Amino acid sequence: MKKLIVFALLLVPLTTMSVEKSKKVYICNDKYNTEYHANEKCPRLIDCATDVKQVAIDEVKEFRTACKTCFKKRKR
Ligand SMILES: [Zn+2]
Repeated sequence: MKKLIVFALLLVPLTTMSVEKSKKVYICNDKYNTEYHANEKCPRLIDCATDVKQVAIDEVKEFRTACKTCFKKRKR
């Protein structure tokens, strides 16, 4: 019975991850920038002095935080 609970707990984050895997986000290629953006035309991204790069979300989400301007509309 205990194994079943552990299995269920492991399954939830795994399904969430697979959904996010294909998602593309935009980052400012600046070493001081610590955010990633859902929208290429985000006002905070336009301030970026260097290149804007499109990357998979799972490449950057460990090192960067979600931009509050881009992600505030999505309640989840
Ligand atoms: Zn943004």
